[in-house]
Amino acid sequence: MVEGIPLLIGRDPRTIPIEQLKALGHEKHPLLRVIRTNCVACVGGSEAEVRRCRLLHCPFWPYRMGRNPFHRQELTGAERRERSARARANRTAQLRQPRQGRGTGDNSLLDAAKALARGGGADAPTAADWPGNYPSAPMPVGEC
Ligand code: SF4
Repeated sequence: MVEGIPLLIGRDPRTIPIEQLKALGHEKHPLLRVIRTNCVACVGGSEAEVRRCRLLHCPFWPYRMGRNPFHRQELTGAERRERSARARANRTAQLRQPRQGRGTGDNSLLDAAKALARGGGADAPTAADWPGNYPSAPMPVGEC
């Protein structure tokens, strides 16, 4: 348990020391990955359900696959084939790695989202940890 959590409620994260953010379990992550993680938690931990999300008005919807569709690149056929082959090789290499540390080595956000969707892991904070500041029941699926 982190000391002083009630004092952090309402604080601008930019004014909170990095060490304190880390003590709360937060790490620096690319924002597209954060959005993807939020979407996985939103639909109950299923990556397939994120793809099928029907809430087109949600601000995260265009970014839910972890990519920014507004940053499209015009590629030639050869460039597209080269990138496709490279992505396939990377994916194959990832699949040959053990589950922990696969690929970029960081599945912690996705794992946390799935644990949250399952009702929290062993280390998940509970209402007893943060009285009055933590929801007593998980959010309904698809209503984030
Ligand atoms: S409703 Fe929004 S946050 Fe939830 S999965 Fe769909 S796009 Fe993501």
